[in-house]
Amino acid sequence: MLIVLKKGCTEAQQDRIVELIRRRDLEALPVSGPTRTAVCVLGNKGPLEDAGFAHLEGVHEVIRVTRPYKLVSREVQPESSVVSVGNVAIGGAHRPVVMAGPCSVEEADRTIAIAHAAREAGAAVLRGGAFKPRTSPYSFQGLGEEGLEILACARRETGLPVVSEVIDASSARLGARYLDALQIGARNMQNYALLRVIGRMGLPILLKRGLSATLEEWLMAAEYLLAEGTSQVLLCERGIRTFATHSRNTLDLNVVPLARKMSHLPVLVDPSHGVGKRDRVRPLARAALASGAHGLMLEVHTHPDTAYSDAQQTIDVETFEGVVKDASILSQLDPLFGP
Ligand code: PEP
Ligand code: MN
Repeated sequence: MLIVLKKGCTEAQQDRIVELIRRRDLEALPVSGPTRTAVCVLGNKGPLEDAGFAHLEGVHEVIRVTRPYKLVSREVQPESSVVSVGNVAIGGAHRPVVMAGPCSVEEADRTIAIAHAAREAGAAVLRGGAFKPRTSPYSFQGLGEEGLEILACARRETGLPVVSEVIDASSARLGARYLDALQIGARNMQNYALLRVIGRMGLPILLKRGLSATLEEWLMAAEYLLAEGTSQVLLCERGIRTFATHSRNTLDLNVVPLARKMSHLPVLVDPSHGVGKRDRVRPLARAALASGAHGLMLEVHTHPDTAYSDAQQTIDVETFEGVVKDASILSQLDPLFGP
């Protein structure tokens, strides 16, 4: 349930509303958007009757939230959220943002060379993995904290904000010291304990869709983050597992306009993991932007064949320049959704 407050609702009136909710053993979470302030009532086991909230002083109206996800839904916040990664604003009416970098952070000189090339080609954010959740325990697992230090150094050299995946509470704590945003990978989308920990860290979070997650499961994972107090969450579609063997995953662009309709959170697309083959990354990046994505995440390398992981889907700098050009052309399309 959402209790929308009157424009002139005083602090004392709001405190009283919150107190009455808590007295009923429910959680009260104030949510303020650009056009209205409301208190979201959470934690009810079944449907919650109005229970007299509508008649309290300072209340404009009471809205039943019908979706299982509350804080991420447009029912609770009709306006699109804008998430800032460093000084880069993502979502709402902002032009699509392109994030790029190697799948795995590599030695400093290689990573910094990639960061410079990506920035010159038009990347707004540098992304690379220092903690890699690999299918095989014998594959390269990432440089760990050294990788985070290299990312921080790349940020100093290029000015690009940096994003990297965290895989457990301890890598999250380390990540928070070096990064501008924390990434939750597809394999950890339903690691609810981890979501709870990082939802409290105060950094923006890029939440990838799980390998076989429905839209609702994905939004519920985002709900875990918002329920811990953050509002800075980016959704990222990265392909799902289907019967198809012609691509690594099936990039599910159906989900982009729908996620944007259901949720106010910005939606990114990662065509690199979505298709898994470098010759098809650019066409799918175009399709992602045409479907309404607020930005792209791409695996890019100055020497893609030698990348430490995901070489087969990593594009070279020239192809990346093409993607950025496409993004600038496609950003002129009329927005599909309002603010
Ligand atoms: C990645 O972004 O490098 C990654 C491992 O992606 P995903 O979690 O989507 O597989
Ligand atoms: Mn990868």
